[in-house]
Amino acid sequence: MGCVGVGIFIIYRAVACVNYKVNMKLLDKSARVWFLTEILSGMLLALRYMFKKKVTINYPYEKGPLSPRFRGEHALRRYPNGEERCIACKLCEAVCPAQAIVIEAEEREDLSRRTTKYDIDMTKCIYCGLCEEACPVDAIVETSNFEFATQTHEELLYNKDRLLRNGEIWEQEIAARLELDAKYR
Ligand code: SF4
Ligand code: SF4
Repeated sequence: MGCVGVGIFIIYRAVACVNYKVNMKLLDKSARVWFLTEILSGMLLALRYMFKKKVTINYPYEKGPLSPRFRGEHALRRYPNGEERCIACKLCEAVCPAQAIVIEAEEREDLSRRTTKYDIDMTKCIYCGLCEEACPVDAIVETSNFEFATQTHEELLYNKDRLLRNGEIWEQEIAARLELDAKYR
């Protein structure tokens, strides 16, 4: 009988303890609702951030800084005299982990090798930058342009003409970026 009494007492204390915790939680919640503390703390937070420096920018009119190592849209470069830099060594094609590059080449009359076809499937590309790193003549590069979204898959199948055109458009910016990064290469 003594043991049963102790058992009942322990159960009673446990239930009382749980009830106490539940009641305190309810009281706490009610107090927060009645005194509007959550709304007030939210308004206080908003007020505090009104006077802080803005961290958002008005894209596309404003743009954030980009690292010289940013890997964006690809381009093929030319030398200042207009000659293509690419010597069709195919190192970029071999190193590309996504197998996104397809090159065909032939020998010219002056015995130099030049590509007859240079395709990049931009939808396969993972922007790893290995093609740029492998290129011995800085011909294939990745520009800082990231705004080349298209409506169709076909528009992202770049050929040599498209890549050379990108090179002409972005040459100044590419040269500046390569110069900035030169001491780390
Ligand atoms: S950036 Fe990488 S995945 Fe894209 S074409 Fe170059 S090597 Fe291939
Ligand atoms: S882009 Fe560079 S790595 Fe690729 S084939 Fe031309 S020279 Fe070789």
